[in-house]
Amino acid sequence: MPEPQFDAIVVGARCAGSPTALLLARKGYKVLVVDRATFPSDTVSTHLVHPPGAAALQRWGVLDRLIATGCPPIDTYAFDFGPITIAGAPGTADSPFAYGPRRTVLDKLLVDAASEAGAEVREAFTVEDIVMDDNRVVGIRGHAKDGRSVTEYAKVIVGADGRYSRVADAVGAEQYNEKPEILCGYYSYWSDLPMGGRFETYARDRRGWAVIPTNDDLTLVVAGWPFAERDANRNDVEGNYLAAFDQAPEFAERIHGAKREARFAGTAVKNYFRKPFGPGWALVGDAGYNKDFITAQGISDAFRDAELCASALDASLSGARRFDAAMGEYQQTRDEHVLPMFEFTCQLATLEPPPPELQQLLGAVHGNQEAMDGFARVNSGVTSPAEFFSEENVGRIFAAAQ
Ligand SMILES: Cc1cc2nc3c(=O)[nH]c(=O)nc-3n(C[C@H](O)[C@H](O)[C@H](O)COP(=O)(O)OP(=O)(O)OC[C@H]3O[C@@H](n4cnc5c(N)ncnc54)[C@H](O)[C@@H]3O)c2cc1C
Repeated sequence: MPEPQFDAIVVGARCAGSPTALLLARKGYKVLVVDRATFPSDTVSTHLVHPPGAAALQRWGVLDRLIATGCPPIDTYAFDFGPITIAGAPGTADSPFAYGPRRTVLDKLLVDAASEAGAEVREAFTVEDIVMDDNRVVGIRGHAKDGRSVTEYAKVIVGADGRYSRVADAVGAEQYNEKPEILCGYYSYWSDLPMGGRFETYARDRRGWAVIPTNDDLTLVVAGWPFAERDANRNDVEGNYLAAFDQAPEFAERIHGAKREARFAGTAVKNYFRKPFGPGWALVGDAGYNKDFITAQGISDAFRDAELCASALDASLSGARRFDAAMGEYQQTRDEHVLPMFEFTCQLATLEPPPPELQQLLGAVHGNQEAMDGFARVNSGVTSPAEFFSEENVGRIFAAAQ
């Protein structure tokens, strides 16, 4: 087997891959990041980046560039449950805003930052297979646009290649906490739907939708219904999408005064965790962990994974720690951090009305600005649902409501 030319090869160059490559390159490692896509390019995803995600962009020196694209900051999350709307601030003093950058904008900024950090970026490069030596992953085999087969070797191969990860599949990454698709969602972009720095969500009978201001004075509106209705509604996405809004007449009036500027896109996703490491390989982002998009955590989660995984790989590549110990800690930290949000997300995605105790709690939260900010911060991933819904915090909210 030839000497590996790279310390790390990262497969996939979007929210998980480019930051992982950037962080490793900045630590002085020789990194190759490949993607079958070219950039800028779009992908099927809405794109609310919560304040913790914006904070990561700030740490990496990318946030100012994002702001310079004219992407409007979001300082308020408003959750309209019909009888009540809970509106609060999603961020912290250090990172007060969320953003909704188009993926054409965000992913290109990340790819460029990885390249500037010294990672070699190969766009339009498709990985077909991984190369094994005994039980260990040692390289990738793929092709560029000209179709020529290329093999590259590295000390570690990082799969940042999304939900249908070729790397995870090839290594047979163990999957756990699986749940099938719960919700399907469809979105488009609208002009003349000003948001004034607000992200809005609406929960109604078997329907939910969210409204996100984005680049170019456009507003993304995504609407969802239970996965069980997917096939019945598939031939009339637009009709079902617009009909949902009739359950909130004020919003229906606003969107009737707006103009749709793009075709519909949408999908449904499975929920799972995958073991994110093994001999010679690692997984970050959706390749390693995925949950329904209703809570819009995926991009911020991918950023967090990139930081955790890059520092674990650094510890191992530098000889400071054994690979299994460093990567085991990455998995444990990831899982402990995301499990309460995973459960909360899967519950919300059912679009069932909140259970009576939660309705009571939301009633007590309503009008209490501190509690409404707290609820917004749960949805933005700043505060764990476990903390917000703890007996102590719930007791405090009910006491304040009396
Ligand atoms: C409908 C929908 C709405 C969403 N809304 C939000 C939201 O509002 N906010 C949020 O935070 N998250 C949202 N998400 C989740 C978010 O899109 C993902 O969590 C995020 O994109 C994960 O990034 P990633 O880099 O892991 O994977 P991806 O973005 O999927 O990138 C994977 C990359 O790998 C490349 N690749 C794959 N296979 C190969 C191969 N064999 N060879 C070379 N390259 C390969 C692909 O071309 C792709 O560029 C949404 C998801 C969906 C589906």
